[in-house]
This record gives sequence, structure tokens and C-alpha cells, in this order.
Amino acid sequence: MPTKMRTPTKTKIRKGDVVQILSGKDRGKQGRVLESRPKEGRVVVENLNVVKRHMRPRPIRDANRMGRQQILPGGVIDKPAPLPVSKVMLVCPVCKRPTRIGVDVREIKGEPVHRRVCKRADCGQEIDR
Ligand SMILES: [Zn+2]
Repeated sequence: MPTKMRTPTKTKIRKGDVVQILSGKDRGKQGRVLESRPKEGRVVVENLNVVKRHMRPRPIRDANRMGRQQILPGGVIDKPAPLPVSKVMLVCPVCKRPTRIGVDVREIKGEPVHRRVCKRADCGQEIDR
């Protein structure tokens, strides 16, 4: 067993959240999270951190059993690249400001229910509604 455990980046950011980019060329821009990868500590944000992928034309296998082989056209494709979660901040849907996420635990019928809340002192509203 390794003595040093790597702490996985815990992210409370989920798919569908709106985040603001903190650094890089898209700093200050906002976008919706398309994909959250907690294991990698990364998120993919719509239209942000876009990289150009140069694709070669390639055949699609078994796309059409009947006719001739179809070709996927090549060219330059814009694709959002995953961003480290440390470079994004959730935008609170209530106060519309980038914020840290707090967790509020409340007992409902004997079951603890975790809710994400805005950490802004003057807001503190529930994020998921
Ligand atoms: Zn807020």
C-alpha cells in the first residue's frame, strides 16, 4: 500500500451546471457543463476551451449494409476539451454570481438529505431546485 494517498479532486459540479472559467483564454466566460468527470477532476463545458481537431476522412463501418461504404468527412472540428475543475467556478442560478458550493445536510423523515447551496453570505440559496 502506498503511504501517500492521492486525494481525488472532489467536485460538486455536475452536468447541466453553469460555470465560469477562471483562467486561460476563456477566462470570465460562462457555459453549461456537458460532462463531469469526477475521477479525472475535470469538466467539459459547452463552447468553452474549444480545441480544433484535424480529422482525416474515414469510412464508417457497417453504417449501411445495403449500399456503398459511407465516408465521414474530414476537416477541422471544434471540440470542447475537458477543463480542470479548479479552473471553473459554479455560477449560482439564484444570484448569478460565481460562487463556491456548500453542502447543507438536513434530515427529512430520518434520512439525511444533502443539498448544494450557494456559499455567498448574502445569498445562501439552494442551487438545485
Ligand atoms: Zn447565490
